[in-house]
Amino acid sequence: TDACLDAIETAGALNAFVHKTPDLARDRAAAADRRIKAGDAPAMCGLPIGIKDLFCTQGVPSQAGSRILEGFLPEYESTVSQKLIDAGAVMLGKLNMDEFAMGSSNETSTYGNAVSPWRRGNDDAALTPGGSSGGSAAAVAADLCLAATGTDTGGSIRQPAAFTGTVGIKPTYGRCSRWGIVAFASSLDQAGPMTKSVRDAAIMLGAMAGHDPKDSTSADLAVPDFESMLTGDIKGKKIGIPKEYRMDGMPAEIEKLWADGADMLKGAGAEIVDINLPHTKYALPAYYVIAPAEASSNLARYDGVRYGHRAKLARGDGITEMYEKTRAEGFGHEVQRRVMIGTYVLSAGFYDAYYNRARRVRTLIKKDFEDVFAQGIDAILTPATPSAAFGLGEMTEADPVQMYLNDVFTVTVNLAGLPGISVPAGLDKKGLPLGLQLIGRPWEEGDLLNTAYALE
Ligand code: GLN
Repeated sequence: TDACLDAIETAGALNAFVHKTPDLARDRAAAADRRIKAGDAPAMCGLPIGIKDLFCTQGVPSQAGSRILEGFLPEYESTVSQKLIDAGAVMLGKLNMDEFAMGSSNETSTYGNAVSPWRRGNDDAALTPGGSSGGSAAAVAADLCLAATGTDTGGSIRQPAAFTGTVGIKPTYGRCSRWGIVAFASSLDQAGPMTKSVRDAAIMLGAMAGHDPKDSTSADLAVPDFESMLTGDIKGKKIGIPKEYRMDGMPAEIEKLWADGADMLKGAGAEIVDINLPHTKYALPAYYVIAPAEASSNLARYDGVRYGHRAKLARGDGITEMYEKTRAEGFGHEVQRRVMIGTYVLSAGFYDAYYNRARRVRTLIKKDFEDVFAQGIDAILTPATPSAAFGLGEMTEADPVQMYLNDVFTVTVNLAGLPGISVPAGLDKKGLPLGLQLIGRPWEEGDLLNTAYALE
């Protein structure tokens, strides 16, 4: 814990930790030492970790990367962070993220973006650690903590993991409780671990997962011992390669990464099968209707009354001006854009044309996956991202759709509620990490982790 706290101070330029809790960390580390001495050490006893700013942590600032939650000190602990505390983990502080988890580069954060510890060859230009869990990815990659929590609504665990050479798993929807995690799009949001290895991911997911009566969408299923399932034996497993993920203009490096990954799994005894997921091309548009629709509803609660920031009012201002000024000041541009898209697609005149159509597309995407699993496919292999990490400031606000295209390989998994993992799979020509994604059957994270283990 002390070594990590020192490293965090030294690596301040990465802007990964946005609220530090050194005193709390030292207390919890001392308590962990006592438990270890007493021979009563749970799975993560004494392990220093970071928590994404989206998780409510009792008495510790929890701003979801937004100005509107300035000064908000939750009176409760999210279920997932509580489970990690119960497992003995030591929180070092809160990690940077895109505002309300909306973004792919960490650049929408009210704290300013986190920076990747990686560089392109000898080029000094700062790169994005990805988003929205960019602070988590940067912190794990730079050894500021042993592991971190992330959340993934459309790729926010897997894309930053791929950009930083770390492992990130989004579990099946319902595996981890969403209680106490600031909501973005409730039918898509899931928490998961971001770690240095697949084994660490298995251990940490085991600590985070489990039924919670406080989240009605959390599944009442036993949590297997994921770590014990890491045998590396994948003989006879059928791995699907979906041709729809072979995009026009896909960089040759990504093609090669994907082919090499398939060869590696084949070498380990798996059978590689070409599969079809015909509705893939509609996933991104459907996601960028459904996610903003849910966000616009979830974010209605930030009204200047219940939490955080309230704008200064002028004489004569009433409650409407208070809402308007607070939300205009408190929300950044990307969040405002999502609220506008969301309210538009839910509006009486356009609801059927956009929101209902997107929901139908979502059902078809889910069915594509069900069909291939019914054909005996155990896992699906795809690239995690269409490119390696890009430079900060390289994708401009002038063209938000360019940023949205980053999520092309990841959003299908959230729309279908499936588990997906990003595993580091080598470096590109400039020395930057690239990730491969494996998508698994619902509730079979153990098998998925084991396949990822064979690829690691
Ligand atoms: N980049 C996607 C978005 O901006 C995904 C975000 C996420 O998974 N939280 O919506």
